[in-house]
Amino acid sequence: MAGDSDKRGGIDLGGTKIQAVVVDRGGEVAGQEKLPTPTDGGPEDVAEQLVAALRGAADDAGLDAGSLERVGIGSPGDVDAATGTVSAARNLPGWEDSFNLGGHVRDAVGIPVAIGNDVDVAVRAEVELGAAREHRSALGVWWGTGVGGGVVIDRGLWHGRGAAGEIGHMVVKRDGAHCPCGRRGCMEAYAGRKAMEKRAREEHDKGRHTHLFKLMHHHGRDRLTSGIWERALDHGDELAEELLDRAVEALGTGVASACNLLDPEVVILGGGLGDRLGSRYAEAIQAEMGEHLFTDQDPPAFAVSELGDLGGAIGATLLGAGDEEGSP
Ligand SMILES: [Zn+2]
Repeated sequence: MAGDSDKRGGIDLGGTKIQAVVVDRGGEVAGQEKLPTPTDGGPEDVAEQLVAALRGAADDAGLDAGSLERVGIGSPGDVDAATGTVSAARNLPGWEDSFNLGGHVRDAVGIPVAIGNDVDVAVRAEVELGAAREHRSALGVWWGTGVGGGVVIDRGLWHGRGAAGEIGHMVVKRDGAHCPCGRRGCMEAYAGRKAMEKRAREEHDKGRHTHLFKLMHHHGRDRLTSGIWERALDHGDELAEELLDRAVEALGTGVASACNLLDPEVVILGGGLGDRLGSRYAEAIQAEMGEHLFTDQDPPAFAVSELGDLGGAIGATLLGAGDEEGSP
């Protein structure tokens, strides 16, 4: 039964994969499982896959998922931590409305469930266990399909009225490129993977040469994943280089503006593209930031996330430790 084990579960629910881990009391990973996120169906299918991933991670750790002390879930969309519901998770299939993800997993596995925003959860993991553990304040920049963010002040996440940290929608150019959010000129309109793919397709359709889509088909993908962008760079693909330079310019501008407001001790770059390409572009992003930073003589520290693609799931294991707003 729940609580038999002193181990906890954590699940990172992403647009392409569901990563589950089981950690021991010290936070060491004892088991893990990664499953693809369903691309059709609806929230119930995603929830079933979440449960399967958790069972797989528990099995890998040599125990039954029902004996875990609790499980935390980092989810995209609008997360209501108090009720366990997730709404408008638009990167997930058929998930426009509200669905009680927390309740579903709790009923299926029979253990307490806590749920939080995916980027908040990943940033908190870096604060507790990763690149920001020595710092009081931090700005997390999660560079992936979109560009998410997390603001850490005095070692606590700043939520605002619930939507703080949307750094991807800092305006870097008035009346600029169309953003997936429906507005114009946001940082994400230049740096988000979804926007970059749209731009790449437009250029390709106009006859511009690129390996990007050949690589995508060759590797059996239906979108330009972070790995495909990396491979294209390794092939010296000019369009990929150009679009990433454009992304870096937008990131540097937006992140520097956020730093001018918050003056954090450290900027942490994570997310799918951040994990893949962060080291490669860290210097270029900092150089671009320098153009706009008020404290350019004394810039904040800059680090790539230390926990990498397990960070979200590890961060989710920290949810529900008693300092959260209710766990369903
Ligand atoms: Zn936007």
